[in-house]
Amino acid sequence: MSVALSTAAPSLFEDVACYGCGRPGGRAFIDAQDDLTGKAGTFHFVICETCGLAFQNPRVSLDHIRGFYDDDYIAHRKTNWGLLNAAFNRAMNQLDAAKDRIVSRYVGLNASSAVLDVGCGVGTFLQRLRQRYGAAVTGVDFKNLASYPALQGTEFHCGLFYEAALADRRFDLVTMWHFLEHDYDPLHSLRTAHRVLKRGGHLVIEVPRLDSFTFWLFRDRWPGLQAPQHTVLYDRTHLLQFMERAGLEVVDYLPYGAFPAYFYLFTGTAFLMLKGRGLNLKRAIYPYFLGRVLMAPVLAFEKHLNLAMQTVVCRRPQ
Ligand SMILES: [Zn+2]
Repeated sequence: MSVALSTAAPSLFEDVACYGCGRPGGRAFIDAQDDLTGKAGTFHFVICETCGLAFQNPRVSLDHIRGFYDDDYIAHRKTNWGLLNAAFNRAMNQLDAAKDRIVSRYVGLNASSAVLDVGCGVGTFLQRLRQRYGAAVTGVDFKNLASYPALQGTEFHCGLFYEAALADRRFDLVTMWHFLEHDYDPLHSLRTAHRVLKRGGHLVIEVPRLDSFTFWLFRDRWPGLQAPQHTVLYDRTHLLQFMERAGLEVVDYLPYGAFPAYFYLFTGTAFLMLKGRGLNLKRAIYPYFLGRVLMAPVLAFEKHLNLAMQTVVCRRPQ
């Protein structure tokens, strides 16, 4: 299913109050287009006049947003990339390895570990943890991806995280890789993560960082806007405030993530040139890998440059 905004009924959109403090409205911040796919429509982000949180308002209603996570959605695609299949698969493995490296700094995973990945997508990260550590793995995703091979052998819950039937104090580790910025009720999700974590268990969250170099550079073409899917744009301050509100103890904060900042440098440049016409991923993949090679000297310092991503590591208090 896909949604054509040009012919859509007004009920496609709904007003939303600030996700942090509940204040309705907000002053205009930035207007964005669906730069990734080129679907029609302009989407508005506002800044809360009480707490300063940046969020999309109005937003596409939950019933309608599903159409924006169709089979072409970038995180789920099964495209045949031709000669670059191997390079694409290697990039995906590298992403899972980078996630593994981040969590392994805080949590010693082993065969008795229980791990939950919220917004698990096709499940390759969980598959890695199961194969490498023997961990018991569980995934939740809004979209039913249970037929994907990596999810075989994984307990999978399709639907909203805070509605999933998961027992209290069950997990040693909960991860949210680029989930929270899509969430329609992030505080509810964080409190749910708190509930399902064991005491002392860890929560690792990666989201795009609003107060980053790439936002400064690309502004209304910043890939981190990802309209209409992204509901909230977190800067460091607001991300940490959300953890506090959910009763989580912040263990560490990283000005980078597992997801490569280079993706934002490349797509942001492309979005500036395409002006909302949508990115043809098949055509873009050669310049993508070429650019990555050329930028390697800069990317070597990615963890120190605050380019695009942020990761917060939290713990449920004892
Ligand atoms: Zn607010």
